[in-house]
Amino acid sequence: MEREVLEFDVQFVGGGPAGLAGAIHLADLIAKHNANAASTGATPLPELTIAVLEKAAEVGAHGFSGAVMDPRAIRELMPDYVAKGCPIESEVTHDDVVVLFEKSSFRLPFVPPALDNHGNVIVSLGELSKWLATQAEERGVLIATETPAQTPLLEDGKLLGVRTGDKGIDKHGNRKGTYQPGADCLAKVTVLCEGPRGTVAKQLESALGLTAGKQPQVYATGVKELWEVPAGRAQKGRVIHTLNWPLPSSTFGGGFVYGLSDSLWYVGFATGLDTADPTNDPHGNLQRFKTHPMIAALLEGGKPIAYGAKAIPEGGWYSMPKLYADGLLLAGDTGGFLNGGRLKGIHLAIKSGMLAAEQVFESLLANDFTAAKLAGYETRVAQSWAGAELKGMRNFHQAFDGGLWTALPRTGFQMYMGGLDPLGDGLKGHSSHERMKPLRAVHPNGKPAPLKADGVLTFDKLADVYLSGTMHDEDQPSHLQVADTSVCATKCREEYGNPCQHFCPANVYEMVPDPEREGALKLQINASNCVHCKTCDIADPYQIITWTTPEGGGGPSYKRL
Ligand code: SF4
Repeated sequence: MEREVLEFDVQFVGGGPAGLAGAIHLADLIAKHNANAASTGATPLPELTIAVLEKAAEVGAHGFSGAVMDPRAIRELMPDYVAKGCPIESEVTHDDVVVLFEKSSFRLPFVPPALDNHGNVIVSLGELSKWLATQAEERGVLIATETPAQTPLLEDGKLLGVRTGDKGIDKHGNRKGTYQPGADCLAKVTVLCEGPRGTVAKQLESALGLTAGKQPQVYATGVKELWEVPAGRAQKGRVIHTLNWPLPSSTFGGGFVYGLSDSLWYVGFATGLDTADPTNDPHGNLQRFKTHPMIAALLEGGKPIAYGAKAIPEGGWYSMPKLYADGLLLAGDTGGFLNGGRLKGIHLAIKSGMLAAEQVFESLLANDFTAAKLAGYETRVAQSWAGAELKGMRNFHQAFDGGLWTALPRTGFQMYMGGLDPLGDGLKGHSSHERMKPLRAVHPNGKPAPLKADGVLTFDKLADVYLSGTMHDEDQPSHLQVADTSVCATKCREEYGNPCQHFCPANVYEMVPDPEREGALKLQINASNCVHCKTCDIADPYQIITWTTPEGGGGPSYKRL
């Protein structure tokens, strides 16, 4: 069967805020240039095809974030965004930072400047992405859903485009009657905005050395539930961030509660994956967080109505990969555009998409898509307010290497020293999985007892997966590829106690009795539960798990997350 070849002028891989903002901005730049061409004497650009490739069945279905958004970037993208119906849940009206202890809490008398949300807005990233997609389509951008970019198409170090996944292959790898080979999507330039730990970006990082000389990326996993509570129990516009409990002070992370209306709360928790504990459990941490008396009181009488999870690139400025190559730019989470100190990335994703669009526009005018030309993107980033913001927080995550209590004075120092840490600048980093220690070193008496879900305030992973609306065709090859499952049954079980069972927030990995070997366990992969958070690809201590794109459209179906 012939493989389809689709040719675009410019393609954005990923229908999140970076890709959609980039496509919108590029269409606007071209339209403005052509409208003014007659009066400025410039040569108008011919009609160009701009495409956004999205793996979900509809834009926004895989979109997931906190989310309090700094509106600075969207205002630049579209000054009349409010009049155009941009879905804002609420402006931030109250802002608190609280240190939690098991049975008590301490509200900071002031909100640290980095966490000050005055002027910011609460949004659903899924709804925002949906609206951005309509704005892009109005400008003639082609949005291709159920189109998962799977592999890069490289020729002599130049990116020609991406190949999408095949359709119609059964779980044994055989072609079904519905078989259709993936398409080759070619473009003069491809902007990768796949989110954290991008599938194509990961392959290009090693093929093109994009991370050479950079600090390794460090991730947290954010897990969130949307709660419906009796009217009046939630407070529209209220923002609460918490530190400390239920994490040990050595683990990076914290909780959040955001009020969408008087009856809806986002309640979520971010857990650093660069921890020593192999039983680190981002979903379990959210459940424990809700049992704190302060949080439980906010949720009383309510129930969760949606759930999701995603990895968050926390490494900052020094962990950003090289952002360009021949025919290639990286934006959004894929490029590491996230301010861990402000707990925000949407505004940086939008801005990075816009800066990429400006560079692509210049390349279109010059008909030059070489790395030498596209390198201008990094200069644009460095000279923009986004670059200034990221540089000002360049040592933030590194300050947590010694735990929360030393991080507080260190990050306070950084804030007044333009990002300089008291221990220096550009301190040595580590990949998330490198800090994991053997189970016995962390828990000499065995694994701690897991929290027992009560079905009222706390829920197990399967109950939450149900709320994520996740669906995959079961008769397809597993999109979670474990290079050597014998490691799971032997070395990993002995050394780390199979941490995948803990860090996956969707109960995908289970060690079950092996019918062929009495008393032995084997790995069972419940791939259809996967919410596409990428945690396993990041946190596996042996780095033998590879997350790949499932058949187009599969995955969560997030509603208002
Ligand atoms: Fe996340 Fe991996 Fe679990 Fe899927 S299998 S939900 S990507 S940790």
